[in-house]
Amino acid sequence: MKILVINAGSSSLKYQLFDMENEAVMAKGLCERIGINGSVLTHKPTGSEPVKYVEDMPDHVAAIKLVFKALTASNGGVIKDMSEINAVGHRVLHGGDKFSESIVIDEKVKAAIRECIPLGPLHNPANLMGIEACEKIMPDVPQVAVFDTAFHQTMPPKAYMYAIPYEYYEKYKIRRYGFHGTSHRFISARTLELLGHPENARVITCHLGNGSSIAAIKDGKCVDTSMGLTPLEGLPMGTRSGSIDPAIVGIISENEKLSAAEVVSILNKQSGVLAISGVSSDFRDIEDAVAKGNERAKLALEMFEYEIVKYVGSYIAALGGLDALVFAGGIGENGPETRESIVNQLHTFGLKIDAEKNKARGKEVDITGEGSSAKIFIVPTNEELMIARDTKNLIAAR
Ligand code: AMP
Repeated sequence: MKILVINAGSSSLKYQLFDMENEAVMAKGLCERIGINGSVLTHKPTGSEPVKYVEDMPDHVAAIKLVFKALTASNGGVIKDMSEINAVGHRVLHGGDKFSESIVIDEKVKAAIRECIPLGPLHNPANLMGIEACEKIMPDVPQVAVFDTAFHQTMPPKAYMYAIPYEYYEKYKIRRYGFHGTSHRFISARTLELLGHPENARVITCHLGNGSSIAAIKDGKCVDTSMGLTPLEGLPMGTRSGSIDPAIVGIISENEKLSAAEVVSILNKQSGVLAISGVSSDFRDIEDAVAKGNERAKLALEMFEYEIVKYVGSYIAALGGLDALVFAGGIGENGPETRESIVNQLHTFGLKIDAEKNKARGKEVDITGEGSSAKIFIVPTNEELMIARDTKNLIAAR
């Protein structure tokens, strides 16, 4: 079975084609500048050189058509015909409280994704464009929606409610939803395998990348997570502030003569470790600057780690203990210094890291130190594979 995984943004579209016989990626690629002059598709067949297509992509339908051209081309193609694709799995950002798992797309599902647009105003319309473009080009191929929010739907109300007037929850569904759910699900499921599926396992998953979030997981189900109504809440990230005193929005708005929406945009795009370091949103640049003695870069890194330590500590309390702490995402998988510093700051809980094993980058490793109170793992995340697996399972069950 061959499954195409699509992550459609407003002007970009990422794809991966999986052969589910062995879960291998046959090709992946990225369409950029859809609907903008100078659109380009970079197609990477596994094991051969990338191929670039500089062709007009006025909309997502044109982008998907070009993806099919690349997938079937004599140069860099990996299938003979698009009829070889059995199903398409779409990453969808916001499923609100309507979806607690992945689902085969029909008109009702599309309407529900549309209803969630106020909660994900940038992503959900783009995700729908990707879905509708595929429906147009391959009407007989089943499509599946995999939601970033779904895994967190098991949170209890005490974790997902905000202490603001209740009517805002009733009228606008303002509550914590959480994101990176597909990643937290993938990492935690693998961690449970590594632990040998003990009963009521208590796992904390740290997805640390350009966007970062932490989840507390009991018996395979999410009980709390750091991102909120939107991905802005929680840890300081590449360009996102993470949690701040909400009164700050009013004060900046008044003093800088900016609308609330403009301030929120600054909190999303010009804050985080970029703002504190003044160097970059990329943790590699920040680490380089720290090595050269840049004090603000050092502060940015310290703030990032400190917030992670606080979340992990509070989630250990929420879970009533800990069986495994897991690192994933660009930094979680590739940042030994950050991992070591975080675990060392958690020593009061009896967590110990193996400094030698922790030198690993980008691969699954048990980095638990001798005498540690809980296991510590690096588990590389793979959201696309999770989407492909869900798509395969749903199609097979039909
Ligand atoms: P992601 O969003 O998961 O792709 O992660 C991107 C982030 O991971 C960027 O800030 C990168 O700087 C960071 N990252 C990737 N490789 C490394 C590395 N070797 N050391 C530290 N950070 C890394």
